[in-house]
Amino acid sequence: MSRTDHRNPNVSGLRPRSKLVHGGTRRSSFDETCEALYQTSGFVYGSAEEAEHAFANDGTRHVYGRFRNPTTAMFEDRLAEYEGAGWACATASGMAAVHGALMSGLRAGDRVVAPRSLFISCYWIVKELCPRFGIEAVFVDGTDLSAWEEALSRPAKAVFLETPSNPGLEVVDLAAVCDLAHKAGAVVVVDNAFATPVLQRPFEFGADVVIYSATKHIDGQGRCLGGVILAKDAKYGAEVIHPFLRHTGPTLSPFNAWLLLKGMETLELRVQAQSAAAFQVAQFLETHPKVERVLYPLLASHPQHDLVRKQMTGGGNMLSIFLKGGKAEAFNTLNGLRMVMISNNLGDSKSLVTHPATTTHCKLTDEEKASAKILPGLLRLSVGLEDPQDIVEDLDRALAEA
Ligand SMILES: *Cc1c(COP(=O)(O)O)cnc(C)c1O
Repeated sequence: MSRTDHRNPNVSGLRPRSKLVHGGTRRSSFDETCEALYQTSGFVYGSAEEAEHAFANDGTRHVYGRFRNPTTAMFEDRLAEYEGAGWACATASGMAAVHGALMSGLRAGDRVVAPRSLFISCYWIVKELCPRFGIEAVFVDGTDLSAWEEALSRPAKAVFLETPSNPGLEVVDLAAVCDLAHKAGAVVVVDNAFATPVLQRPFEFGADVVIYSATKHIDGQGRCLGGVILAKDAKYGAEVIHPFLRHTGPTLSPFNAWLLLKGMETLELRVQAQSAAAFQVAQFLETHPKVERVLYPLLASHPQHDLVRKQMTGGGNMLSIFLKGGKAEAFNTLNGLRMVMISNNLGDSKSLVTHPATTTHCKLTDEEKASAKILPGLLRLSVGLEDPQDIVEDLDRALAEA
């Protein structure tokens, strides 16, 4: 960083954590320390000629809030710097990002391949929405490379996947699936919400597009909804995804962009602390007599532990806890907690726990629940920023009383 460009600091030589603090910053002539919040829907021009010029040179100047906003652009550029993306666009929610990333590139007659283990709304987009528009949806067991190989032995336009998945914590072999997908002609869209940009870098394994629910760890403090789409190739982002977003309008509000921009400054610190705490909690639960099984990427007992070590630098803050008892035991445990809050949100600084079978996944049929391993005794825990020992003690007491 050089002193002379304090309004537009160049962060290219900085380490990742520093990029989270300074990346994307564009100071106004007031030289504010904290990034400005441009809470405006439109922009004015000094003359008719200036307006004409702004529209003729698309992208060089802000013209309307649905297309671009200076605060939102700072957020997009900061995340793009950190992730190593050529292009980024923020959206109003994570689902708007999934929808935009997929539907912008698909049309009738195309095939999309995805694992069965997906966040419920992601599953709905592939299973229900795609076929409405003549797009064939093919589901595979995401952990089975031969299933991917078979599904991708025919041409496909897109592969969409989560790794680790919500809430199954299934891990997909990014390098192998990206390779198969590219041979089939598919663009690979990775929902990296559970891993976060801190613990997994999908572009380095061949992904073309990465999306986030910024509602989760990027805000990380339960304040707002948001999402973002990142493309490795700037041209793909600008030519395929951007027109779709610009004309359909899933725009992030400047205020929410400002919250997310500030959330990014502490992202690495929070995620690393929460990930370390989650590992501690997972180790405690794994030996608990009332617990049948704990799924956590960093535990040696995770079925794809070797793959986790290959593509993730930490286990994340999410755990799946399978209790020996069923629904009653799960409910008693939730009701016995004093500090850990019952909530279906995740990635928050507060530890949150939910019973997926009766909340996030309540609309699935019994058959679908069984195949996605949404069992009656399953709890999904999002480990927060409290002292890990307090989380362990709260769970220990609630389990004992359940
Ligand atoms: C929460 C979540 C989403 C959706 O994000 P919203 O911000 O709630 O729209 C998508 N994918 C995964 C994996 C999620 O956990």
